[in-house]
Amino acid sequence: MMTEKKAASDNSVQERGVTAKGVEAWVIEGNRRFRSDPGNIARIEMTKSGQHPKRAVAGCGDSRVAANNTNSASIGDQFNTQAIAAMLDNAGIAALMYPVLHLGTRVVDIEVHTGCGGIAAAIQFIKTGKLPDAEKDSILNQEVRRIASVLSATPSALDDPTAASILVGSEVAKRFAGCSSEIREMAKSGELGINVWLYDIKTGEKHVVGRVAYDGRSDSFVVVRV
Ligand SMILES: [Zn+2]
Repeated sequence: MMTEKKAASDNSVQERGVTAKGVEAWVIEGNRRFRSDPGNIARIEMTKSGQHPKRAVAGCGDSRVAANNTNSASIGDQFNTQAIAAMLDNAGIAALMYPVLHLGTRVVDIEVHTGCGGIAAAIQFIKTGKLPDAEKDSILNQEVRRIASVLSATPSALDDPTAASILVGSEVAKRFAGCSSEIREMAKSGELGINVWLYDIKTGEKHVVGRVAYDGRSDSFVVVRV
C-alpha cells in the first residue's frame, strides 16, 4: 500500500518534470553558483562575525513572494520569518523579537500579498465550512481557523481578498507592537517602526499600506492606512 502511494506521488512530481533527485541536484548547483558570485562571498565575509539586519520581515510562505527575492536583498540584509498569510504564531513573533532586542534592528515589516491561498482558504471556511485538510483538527486546519477568526470580525473583507490580507497583516503588526514591554515602549516612542506591506503577485511591486501608531486615547496600537 505504502509502495503504491509512494509510486503515485513520484509519478505526480515526474509529470511536472521534477524528481526528488533532480531537486537535490538543482539545490546543489544553485548553491555552487551562489558561492561563485564575488558579491555573495564579500557579504559572507562581511557578516561572518555577526549580523545587523536592516529590517525584520514576516511574510507568507508562498514561493512567489519571498521577501529577500522581491526587494533584491542579500546576505545579512533582512531577518526573515514566514507563516501562511503571514499569520504569525508565537514562534513567528519570537523570530521578529530577536533582531529587535539583540541585533539593533529598528524596522519590522509584515508583508502580505495579493492572491494569497491562505486567505482564500480562510474565506472559504467562513463561507462554506470547508477546510483544506480532510483531518478536521490538523495543524493546517488550525492555522486556517486562526486566519478565519481574524477575518470573521470584518464581514466586508470576505468579498475582497486583498483587503482581507491587509487586515490579517495589520492584526499581526499590532500584536507584535504589544508583544513585550520593551518592544511596546519602542513602538510607542516611534523608535521602532512597524509597517504593513502589500506585494502584488501580478506585477511584482510592493508598497507600504499601513503603519503602526500608538493611540493615547485608547492606550492601544492602531494601523494607520497609507
Ligand atoms: Zn500567501
